[in-house]
Amino acid sequence: MSYPVTYYCPHCGAVVEVEREGYLADKSVTPYPLEGWIYTDPHDSTNVSYESADGIRFVCGEIPSELDTDQATSGIRWTGDRSPADDVENPDITSPCGRPFYLSFVRFEDGTEIEPRPDTDRVRIASDTAGPSQPNGPTSPDGPGGFRR
Ligand SMILES: [Zn+2]
Repeated sequence: MSYPVTYYCPHCGAVVEVEREGYLADKSVTPYPLEGWIYTDPHDSTNVSYESADGIRFVCGEIPSELDTDQATSGIRWTGDRSPADDVENPDITSPCGRPFYLSFVRFEDGTEIEPRPDTDRVRIASDTAGPSQPNGPTSPDGPGGFRR
């Protein structure tokens, strides 16, 4: 059984509606993948379950290219709305922004919720006492290598 759930792009706030199974618990929506999580493209969850993945990788405003039929069969719909949430990174940029973002499901191992490992780019240095560093926008290349077909 799947039903629509809405999320918004953390970059620009574009709202996306996804058909997905109800039993999966959301952990977070982030502009970068969590280390150790395996992401899949949005798809029709009535045909292919999200069960085998740890999350969904969206590209803001994009319907997966292999599903360039109508949106009803892709299981994903960009509503055209923009979230007014405070944590939208760039509420003033053009939306949809075309940048990737990641929905992560809660993962359990032996009944314990798995916490993502800290970003290796932000490993704490002993002499760094300036307080928590702000997560600057990722300067990494656009998505993991080899992802694009
Ligand atoms: Zn966006």
